[in-house]
Amino acid sequence: MLNITNLEAQVEEKQILKGLNLTVNPGEIHAIMGPNGAGKSTLASVLAGREDYEVTAGSVSLDGEDLLELSPEDRARKGVFLAFQYPVEIPGVSNKLFMQTALNAIREEQGLPALDMFDFDEYAQAKIELLGMRKDLMDRSVNVGFSGGEKKRNDIFQMALLEPKLCILDETDSGLDIDALKVVANGVNTLRSPDRSFIVVTHYQRLLDYIKPDFVHVLYNGQIVKSGGFELVHELEKNGYDDIVQAHTAA
Ligand code: ADP
Ligand code: MG
Ligand code: MG
Repeated sequence: MLNITNLEAQVEEKQILKGLNLTVNPGEIHAIMGPNGAGKSTLASVLAGREDYEVTAGSVSLDGEDLLELSPEDRARKGVFLAFQYPVEIPGVSNKLFMQTALNAIREEQGLPALDMFDFDEYAQAKIELLGMRKDLMDRSVNVGFSGGEKKRNDIFQMALLEPKLCILDETDSGLDIDALKVVANGVNTLRSPDRSFIVVTHYQRLLDYIKPDFVHVLYNGQIVKSGGFELVHELEKNGYDDIVQAHTAA
């Protein structure tokens, strides 16, 4: 499904990703861990196509199609979802209208008819119930005045609405209480399906205890330097990144 090969990327002429390889198959959950500054958010940003991130080498394909050629909007239409680390606020635009517009753009790509306000309400209500969320989230301006936990709920809600093929979550964890972490984990676990994949970027292991990823990767200095299964989370929790950092700075 997703194939990242030898990816190199720069931010403000500084080389951040230095030859990163990753393959994600349908239905898999991949966790990306690593120390601060390793390039985790840069990877998420490159996949989402955010400006300021310049790909200088390598390739990224989604279902055989060159993802890097597509605009961020087209990536979203193709089913790539990025829950931003710092979600943007849009005063004066209700969550409902924002999400109806986003969903209809994706439906158009899929050759499906647009949902009018009535049908969208019904569809959204079902998602709210599925996730056990509060309905008033829909009527508020996008992210305006949301607490950290509400922003997380909103990220997950948006993800559930858009039914993406590939979900990329970039989590700082810091500042999130256990309840908010559980919202994220519950959302991922609820939306998990054989044809949907997740890349969960996180600095800490706590979130992963609830999600139980299939694969765990350590990103350090712009490359994936170690991969394993869920057991790697606890190995890292016990030993930290020191060994990995030392092994890669020794030379
Ligand atoms: P992580 O998410 O693993 O903590 P980041 O991808 O955020 O790491 O950052 C990797 C490196 O890229 C850091 O040295 C950071 O300072 C730099 N960086 C990231 N984004 C920008 C940006 N917009 N402008 C300048 N430097 C950036
Ligand atoms: Mg960081
Ligand atoms: Mg980050």
